[in-house]
Amino acid sequence: MICLGIESTAHSFGVGVVNEQCEILANEITMYSPKEGGIHPREAANHHADKGPGILKLAMEKAGISKKEIDIIAFAQGPGLGPCLRTGATMARTLSLNLKKPIVGVNHCVAHLEIGRGLFKCQDPVLLYVSGGNTQVIAFANGKYRVFGETLDIGIGNMLDKFGRVMGMPFPAGPTIEKMAREGNRFIEFPYSVKGMDIAFSGILTAALAKRGKHDIADISHSLQETTFAMLVEVTERAMAHLGASEVLLGGGVAQNKRLQEMVTIMAEERDARMFVPPGSLCTDNGAMIAWTGLLMNKAGVALEISETQVDQRYRTDDVDVVWR
Ligand code: AMP
Ligand code: MG
Repeated sequence: MICLGIESTAHSFGVGVVNEQCEILANEITMYSPKEGGIHPREAANHHADKGPGILKLAMEKAGISKKEIDIIAFAQGPGLGPCLRTGATMARTLSLNLKKPIVGVNHCVAHLEIGRGLFKCQDPVLLYVSGGNTQVIAFANGKYRVFGETLDIGIGNMLDKFGRVMGMPFPAGPTIEKMAREGNRFIEFPYSVKGMDIAFSGILTAALAKRGKHDIADISHSLQETTFAMLVEVTERAMAHLGASEVLLGGGVAQNKRLQEMVTIMAEERDARMFVPPGSLCTDNGAMIAWTGLLMNKAGVALEISETQVDQRYRTDDVDVVWR
C-alpha cells in the first residue's frame, strides 16, 4: 500500500510518498519566505499553487513510481492558514478524483506524532510539538490525542522569528538565534511564564526586545532559549509524570534546536525515559508525515467523500477520533 500526502498548512508545501513499512519513498518540500514581515496567507497560497505541481512531479520521480501505484491520497486538513490549506486540499481532491483513489484528511499536529511512532516504533510517546505556529504537548489517552499543555498566545517558533526580525536576522530566525545563543554566557532574567500546564511567549518576547542595545545579542539569545526551553521541558515532564510515560518525542521545526534536544534528553534520562527526534526533514512540516498518518487512517477504514474535504483552520488535535490505535 502506498500513500501520497500533501502538506500545505503554512509556509511550506510538501509532497511525501510512504509505504506500509513507513519507508519514506519521497519527501519533497518548497518553502515560501516573505521578503519582509511575517507570512502573508494569500501570498503563501499563491506560492504553493505555483510551485505545487513541480513538487508533486519531483516527488513522483524520487519515489520511482507511477501515479497508478498510489493507493491513497492524504492531505493536511488543518489546523493552518485557510488559503494555504485550500491549495493543498484542491490538489488532493483533483488527484483523488482523477486516480479514483480514496482521500483522507489528516490533522497536522497528529501527523507530527504519528511519524515519530512510525519511524522509531515507539509505542506511546508524549510529543513536544514546537513549530512556528504551534506549541503543544500531546499524548494519547482514552481514544484521542489530548493536548496536555499548549501556548496561550503565539507558537515558540513565531516568537523566535519575531525576535529575530526586529534584531535584523534572516527568516526563519530560529537557527541564527541558536548559533548566537552558543556565544552567550551571561544569563538575563526573563519572565518565566508557565500557567498550570500552559505557557505563554508574548511577555517574554516583549522583555527580550526591551534588552535590545542594552545587552549583547548573544546573551539575550542565550537567555531567551534557556528560559523558554525550560518552560517547555517543565510542562512536558509534568505530562509524562501524569501519564507514567516512558517515551518522549520531539516534533516541529524548533525541535531541530540542539540545546532544546539536550535539555529534553537530560529530563528523559532523569526519568529513565527514552527520547526520540526525527531527522530535520521530518521534524519541520512535510508531506511524508501526512502520507504516513493518512495510510494508518485509511487502513483503519477512514476515507472522506469529496463533500467532507473542506479544510478546518482550527482543527483541534483532540477533535480527531483515533480509530487506528
Ligand atoms: P515549522 O513551523 O515546523 O516548519 O518550523 C519552522 C520554525 O522552526 C520557524 O519558526 C524556525 O525559526 C524554527 N526553527 C528552525 N530551526 C530552528 C532551530 N535550530 N532552533 C530554533 N528554532 C528553529
Ligand atoms: Mg508543523
